Amino acid sequence: MTVNNLVSNDEINEAVEYLDFLNSISVDGIIVQDTGILQICQDHQFNQFEIHSSVMMNAHNLEFVKALQKCGVSRVVLPREMDLKTAKLIQNHLDIETEYFIHGDMCTVNGSNCYYSSFIWGNSSNCGRCFKPCRWPYRVKKDGYVYKTEFPLAAKDMYMYEHIPELIDACVTSFKIEGRMRETDFIVDLVNTYGDAIDRYLDNPLAFQRKQGAEELYNNRKRDFTTAYAFSEPGLDFINTRYEGTGKFYSTGKVFSTPTEEPKLTDRTISKMKEEFSSYNIEASSSKKLSVKVNNFEQAKACVELGVERIYLPSEVLLPDTSLTSEQLKQLVIMKKDTELYLDLPQMMDELQFDIIDQYLDKHGIYFDGLLVSNLGAIAKYGTDYKVITDYNINIFNAKAMEFYEKLGASEFTASIEMKSDQLANFISTANMQVELIVHGPLRVMYLNHN
Ligand code: SF4
Repeated sequence: MTVNNLVSNDEINEAVEYLDFLNSISVDGIIVQDTGILQICQDHQFNQFEIHSSVMMNAHNLEFVKALQKCGVSRVVLPREMDLKTAKLIQNHLDIETEYFIHGDMCTVNGSNCYYSSFIWGNSSNCGRCFKPCRWPYRVKKDGYVYKTEFPLAAKDMYMYEHIPELIDACVTSFKIEGRMRETDFIVDLVNTYGDAIDRYLDNPLAFQRKQGAEELYNNRKRDFTTAYAFSEPGLDFINTRYEGTGKFYSTGKVFSTPTEEPKLTDRTISKMKEEFSSYNIEASSSKKLSVKVNNFEQAKACVELGVERIYLPSEVLLPDTSLTSEQLKQLVIMKKDTELYLDLPQMMDELQFDIIDQYLDKHGIYFDGLLVSNLGAIAKYGTDYKVITDYNINIFNAKAMEFYEKLGASEFTASIEMKSDQLANFISTANMQVELIVHGPLRVMYLNHN
């Protein structure tokens, strides 16, 4: 059963009832995105079903998967941009079941947390309501030059039919076909074709013919095919043009996504937010703080001089040849007085990045008052030794999720940027920990590793 939505505070009781029901009828498993659901399963000892972590959880490093395993997750759906070597590494190190996307509709965004649809329409892809703005035409402008692009964010369909031996060799337990919004007959044929091929290979690997049945899949394709990141970074080979630009789902022909102007923030919206907040009786605390994310020494220095309470310094600026030297960091620490200095870790971290950050923290960790963290693996790893604040990409939507991360060592939380004003007011009114809200500046709505 899919329970992989984000649950707001006022839906928690209903979620408990629903999980209790699923537990009582012993469904085989549930698939989950919200760590609040994991927390509820632990609190109520719902253990009659397996728990699988959804691709929306973005379980992309060993620490992350280890933390999920400790919380009772028995299978992880791996991120779409994970290659098969890493999939095998995770399986071999942790002996956990893995699920890998093998066919169908893909996202261009890495790590699933895409906020694009959410920001344009208030329809969150993280709540299963994406309107797919990645399938619109865009021009890419850079350094005064307009690049010739058509649909630079539109991904091809995943196609791993000819690589079943490699999937099995990577110890993938479960092969995932993305079949939503496609016709039933189409899905039945697809499942049977893949199922037969897997059986053929297991039955006699030496006689296996990769191309048997491939032509029919190709002729019935909805978009062009890609093996995405399975073997290496796909670059522009990942990008589709076939049938793009109509706003249609190609199986049903239903038009639902055409370029739309972004709505403006109006006085009416602001007064509605004020009303929502006042109805929740949120007490004004005297300890309000202003935090600023900066990119270089000059910005950090200006914030210190202006008496900002906290500075976030992205770890990217500390790499060689970038905008902050270790001498400037030391200078900042001497001049900062009461201003807190936090290191903002990368949104997604592979094993190499963990090694780099480990070395950096060994050498320079004393200069930081804490870490701003965007993935569960980093919280699990650093939460005991550093003060950890969760960033918005963790998408904390309810008090149960907050409890989950608090147990791993997080001490402050950035609220999800996708909550509606009434959900946010409810969340703040019940939070017993410090909550940070993002109030100004450009946000990453898509996190891409894209040529
Ligand atoms: S807009 Fe984002 S979430 Fe929606 S399909 Fe595109 S990449 Fe995926």
